[in-house]
Parts: sequence; C-alpha cells; structure tokens
Amino acid sequence: MSDPAAETVYTAGRVWTGERGGVVRDGAVVAVDGRIAYVGPAADAPVRAHARRVDFGPDATLLPGLIDCHVHLAGSRQYGWEAVPAYQRAARAVADLGRLLRAGYTTVRDVGGAIALGLREAVIEGSVAGPRVLAAGPILSQTGGHADVHSLPLRWAMEQEDAILADGPSAVRQAVRRICRLNADLVKICTTGGVGSEFDSPHDTHYTPEEVRAVVEEAHRLGRRVASHAQGADGVRMAVEAGVDTIEHGYYLDPAAVDAMAARGTVLVPTLVLARVYRETLAAGTDMPAYRRRKQAEAMDAMAESVRLALAAGVAIASGSDFVGAPGREHGGNARDVVALAEVGMGAEGALLAATATAARALGVDDQVGRLVVGLDADMAAFGPTSPLDSPAALLDGALAVVQRGRLVFTSRAGALEPAPLTRLRPRRPAA
Ligand SMILES: [Zn+2]
Repeated sequence: MSDPAAETVYTAGRVWTGERGGVVRDGAVVAVDGRIAYVGPAADAPVRAHARRVDFGPDATLLPGLIDCHVHLAGSRQYGWEAVPAYQRAARAVADLGRLLRAGYTTVRDVGGAIALGLREAVIEGSVAGPRVLAAGPILSQTGGHADVHSLPLRWAMEQEDAILADGPSAVRQAVRRICRLNADLVKICTTGGVGSEFDSPHDTHYTPEEVRAVVEEAHRLGRRVASHAQGADGVRMAVEAGVDTIEHGYYLDPAAVDAMAARGTVLVPTLVLARVYRETLAAGTDMPAYRRRKQAEAMDAMAESVRLALAAGVAIASGSDFVGAPGREHGGNARDVVALAEVGMGAEGALLAATATAARALGVDDQVGRLVVGLDADMAAFGPTSPLDSPAALLDGALAVVQRGRLVFTSRAGALEPAPLTRLRPRRPAA
C-alpha cells in the first residue's frame, strides 16, 4: 500500500482533463497529498527525486474517475427484494462497490435506500474498497407514491427503512428533517408515479407544488440538494418550478418541461440505459410482473426522444444508470449509460462529460472531483488500449487502473483492490 503523503507522477499516452477538447498527448498528472498538483505534458512535469512514478503506457487514456449520479446500493439480486433482510443485501452491496471501482467509478450518488448511508462511512474509513458514496437515505414519497410498495400492508411500508411516506407541507418538512438527521447528503423525493410502482402511472403528478416547495426550502436551508424522481412532463415541470436541483428519469418530457429546466439550470439524469435494459428484459422474459412489463414497453421509445428534446433545449445532462444489482442492472456495467448517451447524440466526449464534470456539478462536488485540474482530488481511472474518447464502449472492458486521492488502489494486472482511508465528499451548499 502506498504512503498517503507520497508524491506520485502518473503518465499515460493520453490524459483527458474532463473539459471539452482537454486532451494532453503523452500527459502526466502529479498527485501530492491526495490532490492534483500538475496536469500537462509529461516532459514538463515537475518531478522531484522522491516521487513515485507510475506509467500506464502509450495506449492508455487517463480520465477523471467516473461518476454515476443514480445508483441504488440495494444489494438487489431479483425484482422483488422486500423479503431479503437488509444485512444480506448490505453484504452484497459491498461486493457491488468493488465492481464499481474496477469499472472506473470513484464517486456514486445513491438516490435512495438506507444501506448506502453505512457504505459511505465504510468506504471513507478504508474498511471497504469502493467509490465514495453520496447517500440520500430513505426516499420521500406521498402515500401510495413511487417509494411505497403498493400491494404490501401500509404498516410495513410505514416501517421500512428505505422510504418515508409523508403527506402535507408540514409532514414533508418534518420528513426532510428526519432524513437530514440520518446525515443524508441530499434529499430524494418522488413527484410522479413510476414504471416500477404498481398502482400508479408515470404520468400521475405526485405531491402539490406547496409540498415540493416545502421540501426544497427545508432541504436547501439544511444545505442539501433535492433530486426528484419524475417521469411524466407535468410532474417534471412542477418539481423544476418548485426548485429541485436534479430531475431523475424524465422519460416523458415536453417542450414546456425542458424549457423550464434550461431556464433554471436544473440538471437531467435521464437513466437512459434503462431503455436498453427494458428492451432486453422484455425480450428475455422474466418473472417480472405484468404491470411492470407493460409500463417498460410504453416508456422505452419515449426515453430517447426526451433526451434529444432536452439536448436541443440546452439542458445539462448527467449520467446515471439506476443500476441496483439485479439481473440486467448489475453494478460494474454502469458505463452502459455513458455508451447510451453517446449514441443518442451527445458523442463520446459529451457522454464522458456527463459522467465526470457535469455529474460533479449536479452533485455539488465539482470543487472536489470530476475534472483533472490542479487543486481537485486525484481521483482517476485509466482505460485502454482503445480510448473511450474514440469509443465509449471501451469503458465496458473495465479500468486498467484506478487512483483514489492519489493512491493506486487497483490495477487490472494485479487484480486485487486495496482499500485506503479517504476524505469525505462535501457537497457545496445549494443556493437558497
Ligand atoms: Zn432509481
């Protein structure tokens, strides 16, 4: 294991800084005390005698560590996971963190579930190898909303730890305080029904504007961003106008919804890879319930259209897979979302931005990660021999090497993961 105070010079045939056109041929990144001290041509790098040198080779491309803005570290291995104890799912989720790290992910935002709150701490203390986690904790939903489990007794739904059901401005305000009491990094709410919830429609708007404004006001006052699960256009627009920071899914966008997002700078996390996952699961035939198959079939064509509409309106787009660990949504394959974004019209560099710099901005941690620039944390991943800048599908082969806070924690040659203590990511306070 390397010395945390060590100075390391990482070199690669190409270094991409996480900025448009930011490619350095025969580049170097110098990491000192966990932070980036130099990025530029290797020939000009200030290399002191005691510095360690790691060369990833002429065919490697060094990128900022990837960021997935929408995961669930739920340890799910099947569609209905409610009957699986949380301690069993947590053990699986530890394995999922390792898969994410090998895939080049150094930051993930878990948008709902109690397990991620504990995983975040285990990663920071160095007990577990994985990306740093930003955790929403329990999802806030109206009674009968997307985070409810409609066909189970209400008593069960009220007592489970992965969601809070609350109705009315004062109750949702109290719910935000409970979520912050768990030390969540953000607040996740649901302003529409969903593909995955039984007795609602993605087109139903959930919560009133008054309730969502109360959530946003309370969360922002307590320094937390708000992410809204929102699929139908009306629930998207309502949430945007109430001031949420990111829209998750946005499957059925319309011109009014994308214009509102562009005007307010709301970031869209389209979870576009799910359009492919939906198509594959329908073709494969699973034990998935009929309502879910029907809603997936209805959504999958609209999803790509919505992303194109958002792109044309100038909406910022960040990558999020919505992978949970279940078949077809296994952690480790999360970069399939980057490939989907590239192919829908963002191009290779645009899609990589969605999984690095834009993702960091959406999470409020762009002053810490997401780009290879002096002063940021040295979180990086090397890929090759095919460069993801030429073909994003190269990401799916996994990383050649991963660096967290300046330490080499994984190489594909050695295979093993070396967890090390990390610092806590601290999202900047959102604007009130
Ligand atoms: Zn989700």
